[in-house]
Amino acid sequence: MLREFNLDQPTISRFRKELYSRLKELEDSEKTTTEDHRTVELDQATQGRLSRMDAMQVQAMALETKRRRELGILKIKSALKRIEEDEFGWCVSCGDEIALKRLELDPATPTCIECASKAS
Ligand SMILES: [Zn+2]
Repeated sequence: MLREFNLDQPTISRFRKELYSRLKELEDSEKTTTEDHRTVELDQATQGRLSRMDAMQVQAMALETKRRRELGILKIKSALKRIEEDEFGWCVSCGDEIALKRLELDPATPTCIECASKAS
């Protein structure tokens, strides 16, 4: 079943490519950060340079980064799923078309501008 749509197949393929490369970036940076984190822990243990507060702050920041990255990965994966299901480009909240400009900025965005502004 085809709905009238502002996205043609070449545009959707372009977004899919973009989403895959963003996904790869996030997954790569996850590896890098895990290694960085290990280095920090090692320094602490051997040199005891960081105070407890600093260490807690570093850990909180690392957790926050990890959380945001995981959210980003989920967001991209569900956008890719919507592409597979021909639901891509439609707001998951109200079902309206998402403006092409908005998708250009973030192809993983699941909602239209109205719903996004209501949520925040
Ligand atoms: Zn909406």
